[in-house]
Amino acid sequence: MNILIFGPNGSGKGTQGAIVQKKYGVPHIETGVIFRQNIAGGTDLGKQAKAFIDKGELVPDDITIPMILNRIKEADCSKGWLLDGFPRNLAQAEAMYEALTKENIPLNYVIEIELAREIAKKRIMGRRLCANDNNHPNNIYIDATKPAEKDGKFVCRVCGGELSTRADDQDEGAIDKRHNIYYDANTGTMAAINYFKERATVIGVDGGPGVTEVSEELLKKLG
Ligand code: AMP
Repeated sequence: MNILIFGPNGSGKGTQGAIVQKKYGVPHIETGVIFRQNIAGGTDLGKQAKAFIDKGELVPDDITIPMILNRIKEADCSKGWLLDGFPRNLAQAEAMYEALTKENIPLNYVIEIELAREIAKKRIMGRRLCANDNNHPNNIYIDATKPAEKDGKFVCRVCGGELSTRADDQDEGAIDKRHNIYYDANTGTMAAINYFKERATVIGVDGGPGVTEVSEELLKKLG
C-alpha cells in the first residue's frame, strides 16, 4: 500500500499519519525527520540541508527528490510506504509521479487533511506542552483538549502538570512562512495536491473536529 499524506502544519497530520501507518503496517517516512536525523548525525546531506531548514525554506529539489525516491526503494518499503512531508511542491509531485509511472509502482491513496489557514495557525499557537508527558495533548483553542485551570493558570488537563509553549509554535513569522508554501496553489503544496486530484484517488477529510472524529472519518473512507 503506497500512500501520500498531506495537511498543513497544525492540522493533526502527524497524529493521523501514525494511525494510517498502524492500519497498513508500512513505514511512516517523514521528510523533515530524515533531514533532522542527518543534521544530528553530521552527514553531508545534513550539512547541505541545515541552512535551508533553519531559514524555514524548502531544501532544494535536487537534494530532496533523489533522497526520497531512493528511500522508498529500501527493504522496509517492500510492502509499501506512507510518505509525509513529500511532495511539498508541484515540481516534487511531478517528479514523484513520473518516477512511479516509469517503474510501474502504484499510488494507492493520497490523503488530504483539510483545514483553513487561520484555524491551522491558531491550533499551532494554542498548543501547550505538559512538563510530565509529551503525549498529554493540551491546546488552549481546542475545546476537546483545553487545559484545566488552577489558581488562574492553565495546567495539563490530564495530570495537572505545568504547561509550556514551544518557541517555534509562537513564532508567527515562521508559521506564516510554512503556511505560505502549503497554501500556494500555483507551485506549492496545494498545487501538488491538485496535481494528484487528476491522477490518483485523493481522500479529503475535514481536519476541523477532534482527533478521534477525524481518524474515524479517515478510516471509514480508506475502507
Ligand atoms: P517538517 O518537519 O515537515 O516541518 O520539515 C522541516 C523542514 O524540512 C522544512 O521546513 C523544510 O526546510 C524541510 N523539508 C521537509 N520536507 C521537505 C520537502 N519535501 N522538500 C524540501 N524541504 C523539505
